[in-house]
Order: sequence, then structure tokens, then C-alpha cells
Amino acid sequence: MAFFPFTATVKNSERISPNFQRVTFTGVNDMGPAGHIMDLRIKLVIPGEHGLPQMTGEENWYDEWKAIDPVKRGSMRTYSIRELRRAGEHGEAELNIDFALHGVGTPDSGPAATWAVEAQPGDQLYVVAPQKEDESGPGIEFQPGEAKNVVILGDETALPAMLRIADEWSAELTGTMYCELVDIADAPKIDFPANLTVHWVPRGEGHTYGDMLVESAARLFEVENPRGEFTPPVPSSPSDAEQSPLIWETPTYSSFDDEEERAEPTSTVAERYADTYFWIAGESSMVTTIRRMVVKGAGISRHQVSFMGYWKNGVKALG
Ligand SMILES: Cc1cc2nc3c(=O)[nH]c(=O)nc-3n(C[C@H](O)[C@H](O)[C@H](O)COP(=O)(O)OP(=O)(O)OC[C@H]3O[C@@H](n4cnc5c(N)ncnc54)[C@H](O)[C@@H]3O)c2cc1C
Repeated sequence: MAFFPFTATVKNSERISPNFQRVTFTGVNDMGPAGHIMDLRIKLVIPGEHGLPQMTGEENWYDEWKAIDPVKRGSMRTYSIRELRRAGEHGEAELNIDFALHGVGTPDSGPAATWAVEAQPGDQLYVVAPQKEDESGPGIEFQPGEAKNVVILGDETALPAMLRIADEWSAELTGTMYCELVDIADAPKIDFPANLTVHWVPRGEGHTYGDMLVESAARLFEVENPRGEFTPPVPSSPSDAEQSPLIWETPTYSSFDDEEERAEPTSTVAERYADTYFWIAGESSMVTTIRRMVVKGAGISRHQVSFMGYWKNGVKALG
């Protein structure tokens, strides 16, 4: 499994809804992967005030990037592919990335969101992704395995991956998707597969990131007081918050070391979901809260779930 930096050039940048900027890139003819894309994670190297750093396009791109003076290397962020139109009769390949905007025009907007809003045709960044012939599926975490049913919970940062998963939906799967958005106007007006039910859960005033998804999960897992019972403690200092890693756990990988706290799947809720795979992504505290509900509370095997912190409220991404 190998990722390479591609020099991608902006073809177009447009506000597709109140809180999403879609940037369309060319320069990706050799970008992959082959086959499914699903929730493949890609990296972006965003130019800083010194412009785009020089990189050779090799497999050791990360070491190369880390060796550049931090003042001159720009910022690295993780994104998903909303759409990759491969090169063909219609012309060269095009890549769409949808950026969830936050704090536009204020210091709360990070380098990625700010870059997307300001992007002009001809601007460039590096997209780090597999090559077009790569069939190994690196960076894809949507792993339903033998499950017949899928439940997907994600916030606006996970929406591009969720829509890609929906675009590549298998006719053999039945699914339910819950997506928390800033504004219902951000919900795309597209058709979904007949066997995938979608619920938009706008956040609304007075709610914090993830509240709507925690409530949706509490209904699924029959939990009465999810925030009280399962919310992780607030880090004691900003530096603790920065240093604690984003939660990342899939059927085959865990960033946790707490095997002993996983209950046996004996509850009636666990029985109901014996044939279900869960995909949960978005703000880290929300994902951790739902993980506790699923694994500790309902006793569902974590091997049926992918829990992925996509960002951490109040903490800029490390790349
Ligand atoms: C596998 C993966 C796939 C992802 N796919 C996408 C994607 O396709 N589209 C997408 O938009 N994001 C996606 N993200 C999330 C994205 O990487 C983060 O939101 C990232 O922090 C944005 O970088 P930034 O430079 O704009 O802000 P940063 O510099 O990282 O953060 C600056 C401040 O903004 C806050 N912040 C970051 N994101 C948000 C937000 N959405 N709402 C409110 N506050 C925020 C941070 O907490 C911090 O306080 C993905 C993340 C992962 C791990």
C-alpha cells in the first residue's frame, strides 16, 4: 500500500451549499485507487505563505515533507474523495473534494477551509493518494464484511465520504444513514439507493458538535442519558487535548488498549444488531461517546464497528 503526492491544479471552486466549498482539480490522471473509493482517506499539502513546497512525488513523501522547514512546508490535512472522474473520452481526470467550512473569515477557519474558499483556477496543492492501478484498497475503512445491515453516523466532515459510500452502495446491503449538518440546506438534493434510508439531523442553535448524532445513537442503543453516562472527560488542559490522538478503531485495528472493558455481546440490543456493521465518523468527542454506548453500554462487538475521529473541536489538525 503506497501513497504518492500528485500536483493537483484547481479547475473550479464553488460554494455548493451554505457551509460547503467544492474544489475541482485536474492533474490527477494517474491518481487512484483502482476500483472502489468509498471512504478512502487522502492527504492534502496546502501551500502556506511561502507557496507550495518542492516535493519529488515519491513514495517517501511524508519523510520528505517532514524534513522541510516547518515555516515553508505549508499544512497537511486529511480529506475524502467526493468524486473522481477518471480520464477517458470526456477528457482528463477530475477530482472533487468537498470542504466543510468553519469560521469563514475568522481566526477559527483553518488553513484547509480558508484555502478552499479562496482557491482560484490555476492554484495548486499536493493530493497524496494511491496510484490509479492500485487495487489494494489502502486507506478504505468501510468494512461491512459479512454484515447484511449497515448503520452510518457522521457529521459534516464525514458527509463527502458518506456520499461516496452511498454512490458505491452494494445492492445486497440494507442501510440507514444519519448525518448531522450545520444547516439542512447543506443536505445534497440527490437520489439515494432504495435500500439506503437517509436522515438529516441539523444541529440547530444551542447544540454542540455531535449532539444530534449522540441522540440518534441513544435511540438506537436504548440509552436514556448518553451525554451524562458516556461522554468522555474534558481534557484538563489545551495541550492535553492537542496531544491525545484522534479515536481510530476499525474491525481490524484499534488505537485503544482496553480489551478488558469490552462487554460480551449478550444484551438484547446487541442481539438485534448481530448482523449489523456500524460506521461512525466525525468530531472526536462524539465518536468516543458513541463508542462507549456501543461497546461498553450495549455490549456490541467492536469488530462490528469502525469508529473514526475526523477532527477535534478546538484543536487544529496535525495532518
Ligand atoms: C479520514 C478523514 C477524512 C476527512 N474528510 C473530510 C472531508 O472530505 N471534508 C471535510 O471538510 N473534512 C474532512 N475531514 C476533516 C478535516 O480534516 C478537519 O476538519 C480539519 O481539521 C480541517 O482542517 P482546517 O485546516 O480547515 O482546520 P484546522 O486548522 O485543523 O482547525 C482549526 C480549528 O477549526 C476547528 N475545526 C476543524 N474542522 C471543523 C469543522 N468542520 N467544524 C467546526 N470546527 C472545525 C478545529 O477544531 C480547530 O479549532 C476528514 C478527516 C479525516 C481524518
